[in-house]
Amino acid sequence: MYDVIIIGSGPAGMAAGIYAGRAGLKTLIIEKMFAGGQAATTYEVENYPGFESITGPELAMKMEAHAKKYGADTIYGDVTKVELNGDIKKAWTGETEYTARAIILAMGAKPRELEVVGERRLRGSGVSYCATCDGAFFRGKEVAVIGGGNVAVEDALYLSQFCLDVFLIHRRSEMRADKTLQIALLKNKKIKPIWNTLVEEINGENCVEELLLSNTVSSEKANLAVSGIFVAIGTIPDSGLVSKQLKLTETGHIQTDEDMQTGIEGVFAVGDIRKKTLWQIVTAVADGAIAANMVAKYIATKSMGE
Ligand code: NAP
Repeated sequence: MYDVIIIGSGPAGMAAGIYAGRAGLKTLIIEKMFAGGQAATTYEVENYPGFESITGPELAMKMEAHAKKYGADTIYGDVTKVELNGDIKKAWTGETEYTARAIILAMGAKPRELEVVGERRLRGSGVSYCATCDGAFFRGKEVAVIGGGNVAVEDALYLSQFCLDVFLIHRRSEMRADKTLQIALLKNKKIKPIWNTLVEEINGENCVEELLLSNTVSSEKANLAVSGIFVAIGTIPDSGLVSKQLKLTETGHIQTDEDMQTGIEGVFAVGDIRKKTLWQIVTAVADGAIAANMVAKYIATKSMGE
């Protein structure tokens, strides 16, 4: 049995792993895909203190090595079921059961879909949710990025390095991305913003060929020929696994107190899955540190009573 199981190895999960390991807790991190979560799919991170510029994958690898150094076991598997109530917490990857005295939920968030015609059918054939993962397939081609947040602007800037033209399609005429990113985007001649516009359909026989666009002011429709579309319209918390056991907010986030404690004793939630006001790498790692510290206190208190 472990002291703590951490589900998810994004920055929040890995910081929890580092702090739990240093506190001498027997720690298991279970990861579905790859270490680093969404941060690992970010081309360049420019606002993590101490690193003026570092690629997402590099930061993720450093965090993973750091967590391993302090003794956290890491396994790769999809957690399909958890039992959060009771003194012994349980998590299953398929048939395999893992037990621990506490659990930290760090499953993060997944990309929000546009929910338009053609999106699901052409996913992987021109529809992508990760520019750093798939961008290279579109070298010398015309692509569209959808959204006006940090991720959309970062994706457009990244793709402009090797794509022919990058159309940034946003439903308003103002971006919500950080000012520095906005300035870089507007200065970039290869990026062509298309404001006040929604994507209504993604069309193409076997791969993306054309988008049907609709202007939100004039209601005019237009077709835009592109080979790729990168959807960057935000994320939704990956909280389905615990939705029947924990109370979620309207947006699907897990409610915690300032110690990352959820409504169930010994169960903590950290990072993008948690309700808070700023979802960043720096706040995710802070959550992880606090949760691991609280797990150590929780286990010590429980042990005294045993
Ligand atoms: P975001 O900040 O929530 O922005 C999502 C964008 O997509 C918004 O511009 C929004 O438009 C648009 N949008 C939402 N739903 C849409 C729909 N159905 N159709 C068309 N457009 C839609 O999401 P994000 O850029 O993915 O960032 C997620 C979080 O990670 C944020 O908290 C962000 O600050 C953080 N992050 C930070 C950095 C950094 O600090 N460098 C980098 C990456 C991510 P409206 O503006 O009209 O709502």
